[in-house]
Amino acid sequence: MPQYNPPLRDMQFVLHELLHAVDELKLLPAHAEVDEDTINAVLEEGGKFAAEVLAPINLSGDLEGCTLDKTTHEVKAPKGFKEAYAQYVEGGWPALSCDPAFGGQGLPVLLNQCMYEMMNSANQAWTMYPGLSHGAYEALHAHGTDEQKATYLPKLTSGVWTGTMCLTEPHCGTDLGLLRSKAEPQGDGTYKITGQKIFISAGEHDLAENIVHLVLARLPDAPAGSKGISLFIVPKFKVNADGSLGERNPVYCGGLEHKMGIHGNATAQIVLDGAVGTLVGQANKGLQAMFVMMNAARLGVGNQSLGLTEVAYQNAVAYAKDRIQMRALSGPKAPDKPADPIIVHPDVRKMLLTARAYAEGGRALSAYVALQLDKALSSDDADEAKACEDEVALLTPIIKAFITDNGWIATSHCMQVFGGHGYIHEWGMEQYVRDARINMIYEGTNTVQSLDLLGRKILGNNGATLKKFGKKIAEFVEEEGTSEAMQEFINPLADIGDKVTKLTTEIGMKAFQNPDEVGAAAVDYLRVVGHLCFAYMWARMAKLALEKKDGGDPFYTAKLSTARFYFAKLLPETASLIRTARAGLSPLMEMDEALF
Ligand SMILES: Cc1cc2nc3c(=O)[nH]c(=O)nc-3n(C[C@H](O)[C@H](O)[C@H](O)COP(=O)(O)OP(=O)(O)OC[C@H]3O[C@@H](n4cnc5c(N)ncnc54)[C@H](O)[C@@H]3O)c2cc1C
Repeated sequence: MPQYNPPLRDMQFVLHELLHAVDELKLLPAHAEVDEDTINAVLEEGGKFAAEVLAPINLSGDLEGCTLDKTTHEVKAPKGFKEAYAQYVEGGWPALSCDPAFGGQGLPVLLNQCMYEMMNSANQAWTMYPGLSHGAYEALHAHGTDEQKATYLPKLTSGVWTGTMCLTEPHCGTDLGLLRSKAEPQGDGTYKITGQKIFISAGEHDLAENIVHLVLARLPDAPAGSKGISLFIVPKFKVNADGSLGERNPVYCGGLEHKMGIHGNATAQIVLDGAVGTLVGQANKGLQAMFVMMNAARLGVGNQSLGLTEVAYQNAVAYAKDRIQMRALSGPKAPDKPADPIIVHPDVRKMLLTARAYAEGGRALSAYVALQLDKALSSDDADEAKACEDEVALLTPIIKAFITDNGWIATSHCMQVFGGHGYIHEWGMEQYVRDARINMIYEGTNTVQSLDLLGRKILGNNGATLKKFGKKIAEFVEEEGTSEAMQEFINPLADIGDKVTKLTTEIGMKAFQNPDEVGAAAVDYLRVVGHLCFAYMWARMAKLALEKKDGGDPFYTAKLSTARFYFAKLLPETASLIRTARAGLSPLMEMDEALF
């Protein structure tokens, strides 16, 4: 069975040394009291919960999966999931970053992000139950009426109830403008909702006493397309005026999907048969309201792959040190043994270091974005809050797509380190690969993320937000440009920054002639910008490692080696990506559709 050790040292490095998170958070009135000791203590306890409660039920949950009783429409999660959830609620974990006005602990999003990384490492399928609930909490917190907030937020905050997001229908996934579910006003402020949703994560289960579905549907007079979609709360059990559970609402699980991974999470077909709901936010503005949940979920999905990358790496390293096969090409490294441990082989090291560089780079970038989100949510300086919000919006598709693409590469590499044993269930590695694959698909496929980045977030505002982010990088380049020791990091960082600027302009010009040029370049482009972000994080981490490595702590020596590996072996991928992005539309469109 795979093992998991929470990467507390690296989290503390990122939070306290790289980002100086406490200094930044203390400037926000909501977090004026936060300190390093509290952060470290929460991380330590959270890590214990992940490693001791969630990790042991990951492999068994994958084997067992969820079961649906077709007569009652009730779903049972795998053995141990319900008990683990009860412990999670008992420990107050769902409330970590929630608003104290609704029973939350009011701690920073940044801390929640670290907690979720650890839970995802330990058990992604389980973690999706509270993950979806937290997204529902955020959407209602931002858009619910006072009455809705009073009814639902304390229960979601405590974790007594869980939440879902019900968008997808059989004929519409990416294009939600096509959705058909209907909401009929009842004249008493409620609506009867009818339709079929599919692929609803955590859609039905036995972990909590009620499930709060957030459902997209159309009002009778709604305009066609995405401008005619409204958002509704549809609880599994109706809620009485005194907050107690009422009668069963006709919102049922009609079936469970048989799928590649995340078997422990119920992916439900949800039938709404005149279920009673209330409107969230304004009529026909449901997509905007749902975007709060979708954006939170997109950051959360990047975090899922970050967690899987970390745990796959840890297990692959342990295996590579233990497994002996063949001799090093340069002669025996463990002459006392019949063969050398496979960690001596350069390509095994390449696979391990790839996973390590993606895990540590991903952690730094995700934490950076989470801190910007804390500032966007809590700064009392409106200009600062807006600038941070814009930066989070810019970086969200990168977190979602770049980190999940990397997670797929990294988990696959780590499985490869195990040779044939990686393909066998009991080692746990093939599960990480299967679990990681969905992260590139849901919450908007990675292609859709790349279109969002290039089309909306960059070309849509003439590159203004990208320029602001680029300015931060340029300032760092200027500060460190004269340091001899930093040249190996600063020169390639400056170079990729220039190349992104040129590539953006070039694609923007082409897109004036033909908007399809954006679609032809976007996926490669996102990966190039993802590398720019990682190069920035890795150069900053390398600076700290250079300063501290002589103090005797091997953590910094390892950090420096990983930074060197990243710049030498991973960043150069951008050369070919830029070439393929520039190759443009015609090689894709030349062939007549009939010839496919
Ligand atoms: C396990 C699982 C859990 C899920 N959980 C949830 C959930 O909790 N709630 C929920 O509502 N949904 C959920 N989903 C649905 C998920 O979000 C959708 O599957 C996803 O958004 C893609 O939609 P689709 O499957 O309909 O694919 P389609 O939209 O049909 O897309 C098919 C392909 O076409 C590409 N494509 C589509 N449009 C464009 C375009 N304009 N340009 C370029 N390429 C394009 C896509 O990238 C994709 O490769 C889940 C799905 C799965 C499998």
